[in-house]
Amino acid sequence: MSREWAIKSILLFVITIIMITAGLQLYNHRHYKMPIVAGPGVTKVVKLSDYSEGLKGTMADTYVYFLEGKEKGGTMLIIANTHANEPAAILTALLFLENAVVDKGTLIILPQFNNSAGRNTRPGDGYPLYFEIPTDWGSKKFRMGNRDASPLDQWPDPDVYVHYPDKQLLSFLDVRNTNRTWPGRANGPLMEQVTYGAMQIMKEEKVDIVVDIHGAETMFPVTNCIVAPDKSMRIATMTSLTVKARERFENHVEPSPSGFRGLSHREIGDYEDTLPFLLEAPLPFLDQPTGPKTVDLLLDGKDPFLLSLSKKRRLFVPYDETGWPMEKRVGQHCSVTLELIRQFSRKFPDRTITIRSVPRYAEVLKNGVGHYYHDPAKADKDDVYFN
Ligand SMILES: [Zn+2]
Repeated sequence: MSREWAIKSILLFVITIIMITAGLQLYNHRHYKMPIVAGPGVTKVVKLSDYSEGLKGTMADTYVYFLEGKEKGGTMLIIANTHANEPAAILTALLFLENAVVDKGTLIILPQFNNSAGRNTRPGDGYPLYFEIPTDWGSKKFRMGNRDASPLDQWPDPDVYVHYPDKQLLSFLDVRNTNRTWPGRANGPLMEQVTYGAMQIMKEEKVDIVVDIHGAETMFPVTNCIVAPDKSMRIATMTSLTVKARERFENHVEPSPSGFRGLSHREIGDYEDTLPFLLEAPLPFLDQPTGPKTVDLLLDGKDPFLLSLSKKRRLFVPYDETGWPMEKRVGQHCSVTLELIRQFSRKFPDRTITIRSVPRYAEVLKNGVGHYYHDPAKADKDDVYFN
């Protein structure tokens, strides 16, 4: 064998090993099933494909949890993991799902809304595949997801995404972004079928109020805020002022732009009677000028580059050596969501929603997020949902 062939064979062997090793890791990530313990308030669990048939049998199908009170009242829908790389959302949704008891009205939770994006990652950006939250019984392992659905589930992308039904031209990637595909359609691309399913839930279950939970860069002005269209503005403003005064964390309201289509806080309110709200909390992990994208950065939000930018006043949020720990972000989302429920119920007393056993900001800060998760090994088998 010539020297050239020997080098080629060695290279081919090395590349094959790398491809198999990396491929297996990505395969295991895509197929890892996380246990979710349905808490004492959960009365019914269905699938999104019950509302949008085309999702059946696809990776985009996902669980929908109902927490129905004994007394009739209003209905709230909580959506998390619209962007599966903004994990404070799913952590907050599970905190409600595993603990909330609804006395009046109904709470519906979609904790893994873009289920396909939750099984996709960004190896090119050095994203970790998983992260773990310490609990009182061990640690709970989560998949780290991506902003957009996996091309394995929806492909090929168009040159530009023509939004339905407004025909606005959006980036090609937004065809896989479930915060651009609202209100969706039954026979559109898979992610339009996902948002269509949520719209059907709102219609069929007479949902009054929707909270779509996100996280945003500290260098982006739309963070630490509630994004709301005109019709939700009064409740959003009252909520923001109340949490700032009573719980002492920063929060403001951003108006939903009327000309930018496909967003949850825009389309839901325009097409349904439902009042939409989108919540943002700071997520330093998503900022561009940071050190390596580690699990530590994801969970504690500490970064020396952001710290020096903060001293130059380039960030839109308060930032110091303590970073932006996950407890703070999840605690804020809990308090804002609970306050939205209270303000909504004050304004529409005949559609009151009463929820208890969900901690607020100060309690989550004190006890940590994991304190509120239940051990799937000790739960009744029928109450554990793997996804
Ligand atoms: Zn987002």
